[in-house]
Amino acid sequence: MPEDCLFCRIVNKEVESHFLYEDDTYVVFKDIKPAAPVHLLLVPKFHIRSINDLLPDHESLVGGLFPLAAKMAQEHGVDKSGYKLLFNVERGGGQMIFHLHLHLIGGWQR
Ligand code: AMP
Ligand code: ZN
Repeated sequence: MPEDCLFCRIVNKEVESHFLYEDDTYVVFKDIKPAAPVHLLLVPKFHIRSINDLLPDHESLVGGLFPLAAKMAQEHGVDKSGYKLLFNVERGGGQMIFHLHLHLIGGWQR
């Protein structure tokens, strides 16, 4: 684990955060600068820099983010209205925290 990785520090509870969900593999917390009424970050506990760094072994880890997203969307009342799922990849793709995470964004009035 890179010591300067903010999300590793959050996962390890070295930095204060409120988890909306936690299991052995993932944590979910609110984005500190929400881009929409509901903006959650779904974060594997295991440190992977970005989508570019995925290995075949990581398939189930990343795949598991999608059913978790559906569950979180339902719990936060945006499953029916709809939401976006987004991976930013590297600086040009808007990635600022280099620990893989999935954005769940929604809650606009429709
Ligand atoms: P990305 O640009 O895809 O790397 O997304 C990183 C996200 O993390 C941004 O939307 C930030 O607002 C968010 N963020 C940064 N620091 C924190 C924090 N301490 N707690 C929650 N979200 C954070
Ligand atoms: Zn990390």
